Amino acid sequence: MRDLSAGPRVLLKRLRELMAEPLEPQERLDRIVRQIASNMVAEVCSVYVLRSDGVLELYATEGLNKDAVHLAQLKMGQGLVGTIAASAQSLNLSDAQAHPAFRYLPETGEEIYHSFLGVPILRAGRSLGVLVVQNKAQRSYREDELEALETTAMVLAEMIATGELKKITRPGLELDLTRAVTIEGDSYGEGIGLGYVVLHEPRIVVTNLLNEDSEKEIRRLADALGSLRISIDDMLSRREVAMEGEHREVLETYRMFAHDQGWVRRMEEAIHNGLTAEAAVEKVQSDTKARMIRLTDPYLRERMHDFDDLANRLLRQLTGFSSRSASEGFPADAIILARAMGAAELLDYPRSHIRGLVLEEGAVTSHVVIVARAMGIPVVGQAAGAVALAENGDPVIIDGDDGKIHVRPMADLQKAYEEKVRLRARRQEQFRALRDVDPLTKDGKRILLQMNAGLLVDLPQLTASGAEGIGLFRTELQFMISSTMPKAEEQESFYRSVLRQADGRPVTFRTLDIGGDKVVPYFRSQEEENPALGWRAIRLSLDRPGLLRTQLRALLKASAGAELKMMLPMVTEVSEIRAVRELMQKEVQHLSKFGHQLPKRLQFGVMLEVPALLWQLEELMEEVDFVSVGSNDLFQFSMAVDRGNARVADRFDVLGRPFLRILRDIVRAADKAGTPLTLCGEMAGKPLSAMALLGLGFRSISMSATSIGPIKAMLLALDVDRLSKLLDAALDDHRTHLPVRDVLTGFAEDNNIPL
Ligand code: PEP
Ligand code: MG
Repeated sequence: MRDLSAGPRVLLKRLRELMAEPLEPQERLDRIVRQIASNMVAEVCSVYVLRSDGVLELYATEGLNKDAVHLAQLKMGQGLVGTIAASAQSLNLSDAQAHPAFRYLPETGEEIYHSFLGVPILRAGRSLGVLVVQNKAQRSYREDELEALETTAMVLAEMIATGELKKITRPGLELDLTRAVTIEGDSYGEGIGLGYVVLHEPRIVVTNLLNEDSEKEIRRLADALGSLRISIDDMLSRREVAMEGEHREVLETYRMFAHDQGWVRRMEEAIHNGLTAEAAVEKVQSDTKARMIRLTDPYLRERMHDFDDLANRLLRQLTGFSSRSASEGFPADAIILARAMGAAELLDYPRSHIRGLVLEEGAVTSHVVIVARAMGIPVVGQAAGAVALAENGDPVIIDGDDGKIHVRPMADLQKAYEEKVRLRARRQEQFRALRDVDPLTKDGKRILLQMNAGLLVDLPQLTASGAEGIGLFRTELQFMISSTMPKAEEQESFYRSVLRQADGRPVTFRTLDIGGDKVVPYFRSQEEENPALGWRAIRLSLDRPGLLRTQLRALLKASAGAELKMMLPMVTEVSEIRAVRELMQKEVQHLSKFGHQLPKRLQFGVMLEVPALLWQLEELMEEVDFVSVGSNDLFQFSMAVDRGNARVADRFDVLGRPFLRILRDIVRAADKAGTPLTLCGEMAGKPLSAMALLGLGFRSISMSATSIGPIKAMLLALDVDRLSKLLDAALDDHRTHLPVRDVLTGFAEDNNIPL
């Protein structure tokens, strides 16, 4: 009798020799199938390869009609072969014709074969083709034969992935692996980038597949598993995760997987079948992934990611792979693809090389996205399957405006995008030329253009954009991207750095605006049914005066000897301002008592975001040194539309009569009281709405740095007085119902105002 475990071993050894021989690809494939057939005592062995048009084509056969090679084909999901490819699962049948999916291909002459064993050729859980053996007699293939065939399929996967089969692919056709794919996700950060894929956690390519000594490989696997378990225990015992929380939960799951006997046994079996320890990890990882990729249960899918991460860690242990070696040869135009990523990891990449960021998960408000946006990097999120579909170095286009990525794009699409990018660059060039031009309207009104910021990575934009200062510094971002609450000294030194980099230009710090959609992981608040209307911003700060006082003190100390401009978010009643003033007074007294230098001037402002303040405008204007309209929230609350809910967010127009009338009332009240007024919501950064703001009487606006150029180009061409008259009349017009937006676009067109 044949030695069961020696059989696969001999086969793999023979295959290794075949892979090393200098053969033409067709010849190599032909010999591989012959070798498998003979080793497995099968009358037939065939390889089908998946083309980009979703068709599985017969690439080589031993036993079937040779004339059918490159002619016989089945669609994905069709016949037994198509079923295996579509499900990424093996089929072991003693009577193939009896299977409902069986489909007879006359050109192959396969009707005389009864038993059938087919396995998917997998790479990262994705089917690249199918490998089949068949016998005339009705028989059921043994488990070890199935294992052997699956292992052999890995060798074929490698051959397909290295592009060797391209040479024998018929002209005009393409293999699936090199197919152009578009993945639709969500737009998380605007902009377009062209470049090459950099997988954040590069797949470790296992090149050494076949082992020389199984026992040695079993020991290597055991050692690697041992180190992996220790490293997980280490992480679990660290202080930051010693509490409850998601991080701990993930690590607990890792620990559970790392001790999973089923997993270990499957890897050991693969080693006994001739694989090296790393190839065994990869094989089991790919099989598991193929099985789990079809799950719809979000919890189980999440567990699949955990398992995948764990297998990658194990591969790293075994191959001694370090991320340092991966960063060598980092492309000049890199588009980073990740399942998920922490903000700090993004900051580790060389900024000047990054053209885009693609995340399979994440949310617009996740930290890495906030940081990427601050860095002006286009971001696409929720790009399902992106990591598995792309290889390191693949050409890719990220369209952050539309929330899409194009992997291995066709030439015409590539050209169209190159043209778009050129156009943008030309416009950017024009805007840059305006950087030092005075922001004076055509009729001589001076407009203060400032930028919004929240991280140190934003600061270089101050000089680059020509903004005159920072009109809104969102201090919560520092809190949102750190894993623990920033300490008093950390806050102070952060504000100091901001002021140093601003180099004398004014910075308006907004006190903590957390809660609502701004989640701070270590600050646990209760589930709220309406978080936007809940315990957030100034409400939270007044209930936790320690937190607010720490921040106020840090701001006062960082601004010693200079001017401190600060404002409060989400104020609903004027009394809240007075309460903060009292706390501020206490801090000032405390600091002077201990001999600290104080700011030489304090400017105390509020954000106008809650409609209730509209009926307190007189008191408000008297109470503060300046008012900044937070139009994002003011619009959300006055129109009752959730700003984060795509289904309703665009339902009403910021340029509609109700909202513009609200803004006009605010301008009138500020003018009457002589209180400086500004606006720092998104509408300040869009040329048409910014034009409307100037028409309403705003003379100061703050926006993202990239908007400064376009807004300046708009205002240089604008006659504000003429627009004001027109806009006033349009807002008072109770009869024509002509949308104000149309009035504004008409005005811009007639006066050649660039929008
Ligand atoms: C606003 O609400 O308009 C604003 C500028 O604040 P944020 O977007 O941070 O809520
Ligand atoms: Mg707001």
